[in-house]
Amino acid sequence: MLSYQHAYHAGNFADVHKHLTLYAVQQHMLRKKTPVTFIDTHAGRGLYPLAAEETRRLDEYRQGVLPLWQQRARLTADPLLAAWLAAVSRAQEAEGRLSHYPGSPWWLIEALREADRALLFELHPGEHDHLAELPLPPGARRLHGDGLSGLVQRLPVVTPRLCVLIDPSYERKTEYREVAETVLAVMRKVRHAVVLVWYPLLPAARHLELLEGIRDGGLRKVWRSELTLREPDEQRGMFGSGMLVVNPPWGLDEALAAAMVHIAPLLGDACRYRADWWVEE
Ligand code: SAM
Repeated sequence: MLSYQHAYHAGNFADVHKHLTLYAVQQHMLRKKTPVTFIDTHAGRGLYPLAAEETRRLDEYRQGVLPLWQQRARLTADPLLAAWLAAVSRAQEAEGRLSHYPGSPWWLIEALREADRALLFELHPGEHDHLAELPLPPGARRLHGDGLSGLVQRLPVVTPRLCVLIDPSYERKTEYREVAETVLAVMRKVRHAVVLVWYPLLPAARHLELLEGIRDGGLRKVWRSELTLREPDEQRGMFGSGMLVVNPPWGLDEALAAAMVHIAPLLGDACRYRADWWVEE
């Protein structure tokens, strides 16, 4: 079953949370010269025109990237948010107008240096065709296949450092367990890997299976952050977005907390952000 299409949700509050975290991690890793391999296990299309029929159906970006974009002149005091919004502006067709929202492959390749590598997995044939429209630099490759098994098969990588984004659609309940098992397998093969995992906050709280699987597997240094739009509500489904980061770079917690002080009020009065160690060092 592959029915999920990210275009329906592009640029929503969860994308802002996920891509800001990804951007902060990536920028930190790129401060050192040593090359990095970035692996995106669930790539999606790479770049989302906001005028697309699927995106217009729900217009979720209106409670996501849009209010930040509209307030960007006021948000320059926060270095992370200002740099992130400047990057969003580089994804636009024309200066000053928000026409596109960049997906994770775009974020990964935008800053890729000559010696860095990027592997972008996408299983859905139609989504993979869309991804094929994204021009890639020489160090990046797209792969049509299963991102979780593909990731583990390709380890260890040729570069000294590794950064992985795992961002499934969680259409199958078993994905929470599979993601936990994959993270444990990655860390067994590459102990210093930085691994980011996105998870939805739903009233059924299935993400706990993922979090507990990772903790029970004995991993250390696992940080999590959660951005919620409202209290859990059975009728309305996803109420928040979660990010796990294994081996988070130094300063990530403070940088994101500072940015979220500006972001949360723009996403609604009930929007809240919190972060803590899920498993300490
Ligand atoms: N990471 C993207 C971003 O941030 O822009 C969004 C990804 S979306 C949440 C999940 C994607 O995973 C969908 O495009 C879906 O087709 C794809 N997918 C589902 N199962 C997969 C699998 N086993 N391996 C690779 N891709 C898969």
